[in-house]
Amino acid sequence: MHSISICKFCGKEKKLIKAHIIPRNFYLDYKNEQYMRVDELSGKFTIKQNGSYDKNILCAECDGKILGKFDQEGYRILLDEIYKHCLYRDDKVKIYNLSSEYYDYNKLRKFFISILWKASISSLPEYSYIQLGEYEDKALAILKGIASYEDLFKIYIYKYPKDKDYNKFTYITKTKIANYKTFVLNMAGCMIFIILNGKNHPYTKGNHPISKMIINNKNFCIIESEDLYVQHQRMAEQKMQEMWRKGYKPPFAPKL
Ligand SMILES: [Zn+2]
Repeated sequence: MHSISICKFCGKEKKLIKAHIIPRNFYLDYKNEQYMRVDELSGKFTIKQNGSYDKNILCAECDGKILGKFDQEGYRILLDEIYKHCLYRDDKVKIYNLSSEYYDYNKLRKFFISILWKASISSLPEYSYIQLGEYEDKALAILKGIASYEDLFKIYIYKYPKDKDYNKFTYITKTKIANYKTFVLNMAGCMIFIILNGKNHPYTKGNHPISKMIINNKNFCIIESEDLYVQHQRMAEQKMQEMWRKGYKPPFAPKL
């Protein structure tokens, strides 16, 4: 059953639809995949089947025709385009470099912001710890194209090597980096960092190596790292062993 309510994007009274917080395309194996919610403070986690949707936030038009356009650009870049732009490779690391002729900066930036904004406005318990606070309205203004707030939502991406099992783990969490509030989206084999307010952040300074990775309207790098994947895998295995002991059925058998 659909509910008639106020769409949080257009503000109109509309029939609301099942809006996925993380678009379905970014679950690499949607049918079999399980979504892991990690509580960053306690380290506790819960498992959800097939991702999360909220049926109280968006109308079909805003979800499909507006935010859906941003999703398409995110999907095109992360799962296809970047592979055409490998600048450097060795056994452990690949560096991809995209210049602006290959991506739509505004759509790509808005894609990541839209996931955070949806998680923030959602009242689903698994996103209760993702709160944009005073930045929630600013995120909406960016998504609507009313303002750009270029100091906010500074985004950079690390990739895990392709076709690895643990790439199926999808979650959003938050942390602090250099004492700045940062959100982390782990999805589609990528670890995406979003610095909430990047004004004067050390990573945004031109001499910092990560500054080359921050998505901007000229070009940016994505680093693919075997070592990062190994860390990710180790964490996922620990979580799966815990799940196993608690009686959850993980996406695949943990190494005990
Ligand atoms: Zn709407």
